[in-house]
Amino acid sequence: MPDSQIPATGTASVHVLQDGYVREASDGEHVGSTVTLIIDGDAVVVVDPGMVSSREALLAALVGHSVTPDAVTDVVFSHHHPDHTVNAALFPAARIHDHWAIYDGDLWISRAADGAVLSPSVRLIATPGHTAEDISTVASTAGGVYVCTHAWWGADGPADDPFSPDLKLLAASRARILAVASVIIPGHGPMFVPGPDTPR
Ligand SMILES: [Zn+2]
Ligand SMILES: [Zn+2]
Repeated sequence: MPDSQIPATGTASVHVLQDGYVREASDGEHVGSTVTLIIDGDAVVVVDPGMVSSREALLAALVGHSVTPDAVTDVVFSHHHPDHTVNAALFPAARIHDHWAIYDGDLWISRAADGAVLSPSVRLIATPGHTAEDISTVASTAGGVYVCTHAWWGADGPADDPFSPDLKLLAASRARILAVASVIIPGHGPMFVPGPDTPR
């Protein structure tokens, strides 16, 4: 399905459970993943249940949206760095989606993520660049299209992702995302509305 068919508005609701971060402290480097809850009808999706300072706080944020951990139907890994995946087992009933498969219990269901539909207003697109296997979660809401993605760590980039194996591929993925996104939810920072200063 071409991106032009991504609905400009839809029925999903998007809630950030933790704004991601990377910061130096006296005891070392602290890394938190942006963790996002998307609800669309029967689909309850958690994107990137990775590193957090407190699992209890993450689950409390979930319950704050009237969602219990066992009610989560789907988990999405934007890519396979542990800072975005290590807490997936907090959601025992969820299917897990990554770039090339769905994992459901002990079922390994191979498929390409690009264009995969999780619910009427939530889909996945392939956005390689931070790694070769990155995907983004696209949610059409009443207020526009929200995209959870590691194509940016935060609003200011970094313009050249230091992990990227291919900056041209990253630029192409950013262009693809910017063509549809009203709001970007980046890997390690608060959500932002893209503008002229957004690294491309
Ligand atoms: Zn990463
Ligand atoms: Zn990251």
